[in-house]
Formats: sequence, C-alpha cells, structure tokens
Amino acid sequence: MNKRFRLFFIVIVLFFMNRTTFSQAKYSELAVTGRGNLNLVGTTHKLQKEVFEAFNEMKKEAFKDGISIQIVSAYRSFNRQNEIWDRKYTTYISEGYLPPQAIEKIIEYSTIPGTSRHHWGTDIDIIDSIQKAPNKLLNEENYSIGGSYLNLKIWMDNNAERFGFYLVYDDNPLRNGFKFEPWHYSFMAISKPMLNGFLEIDLYKLILNVNLKGNAFLTKEFLDSYLINNILDINPKLK
Ligand SMILES: [Zn+2]
Repeated sequence: MNKRFRLFFIVIVLFFMNRTTFSQAKYSELAVTGRGNLNLVGTTHKLQKEVFEAFNEMKKEAFKDGISIQIVSAYRSFNRQNEIWDRKYTTYISEGYLPPQAIEKIIEYSTIPGTSRHHWGTDIDIIDSIQKAPNKLLNEENYSIGGSYLNLKIWMDNNAERFGFYLVYDDNPLRNGFKFEPWHYSFMAISKPMLNGFLEIDLYKLILNVNLKGNAFLTKEFLDSYLINNILDINPKLK
C-alpha cells in the first residue's frame, strides 16, 4: 500500500467508526438511564423529536373526535425519579414498613431510578383535558366505565397503534410486575431499541453506585426478578 492510499484508508475507517459511535450514542448507558443527552423537544413535557411529532399527529386526530389528549408526564430524568423514590421510601418507612416491604409498595407503580421507561423520551402518561379532572388523575377507575377518561381509553384502543403508540402495562391477568396503567403509552419504534440498550447495562452495579434510599436492599437476586417481572413483563409488542 502506498502512503497516500494508506492515509485515505485510515480516514475512511475513522469516518465509519465515528458514525457507529454517533448512531449508538442515543442508546448509551447514560441515555437509557435518564442521565444522558437525548435532544428532547417540548416545553413542559419533553419527548424525543420523532415521538413529539407522532404525538401531535395523534392529538390532532383525536381532537376531531372530541378528545383532547393531554400529557401529564413524559421525559423524566434519573434525578427526578430518584427524588420520587426517596420521597416514597421515606413515607413508607415512617408509616412503619420494613425496608423490603417499603420497596415492594413503591414498585407497585413507581420504578427504581435508572429503570424508568420515562427516562427514554418515548413514553407518555395521558388524560383527556376536555373532561373535568377527577381528584387523582392517574387512577384506573377514571379509564373504565363511568370514569372521566373512558372516551379517551376507547379512542386510544382504536387508534393509538396507528400512530405508533402502544399500551405498556396492559390488563392481561397473567402479567406480573407493574399494575394496569391505562394512561401509559410508548412510542414503539424508538422505545424497543432503547429497551434493548437498557438490557445491556449492569443494573446491580449502577444501583450500588448511586445515592438511593434503601439501595442496600436492592440485591442482585431482587434486581434479577425485577427485570423479569417489571421491566420485561410488558405488552409483548414492545419487546
Ligand atoms: Zn407512566
């Protein structure tokens, strides 16, 4: 190989190496655990650009049918999830729960920081803002017969997948882990590869090295079963 050709060859190799690093950056350990930079868009509730655009399309269509889809939660950082976790943990402990019980109570609805799908900028919790707001917005009863958000639920059952959004924690009675969340949808095209990126990380090591209340009780065995029951026992279309 002559010198010029060798130089050319090196430049080409570096170019492709850089491209691979760049295209995978979105799914780095930091990105999938809410500590990276995802180039989010939106004001109060932030999402990845593609998700934001698909959501707005869906919102526009729903509005024609008299439903005003409103996001109440979208992207959440690791630090925010950490605050939620610590607050709930402190409350349960002060109510007399032992640490393992307090953790079980928290994970009925909340995730361990670093493991929330809300870290990805692909997942949303939604209500119908045309309806009078009930006391507790994200309550299963609101989305069932007689509830304020039943029309939203029916509309989403019929249309959400057309826009790329899928229910994560469905009402399949055989499902373990998080309870039925008729308000939580995920943009499959991006959340699926992000889930795969998440499954690559060493969760035990991560939990051990963060400042999280009760983390001494999040043993390797506990986290292994949490992964199977909570993270992976979801709508099969999202895996
Ligand atoms: Zn949610």
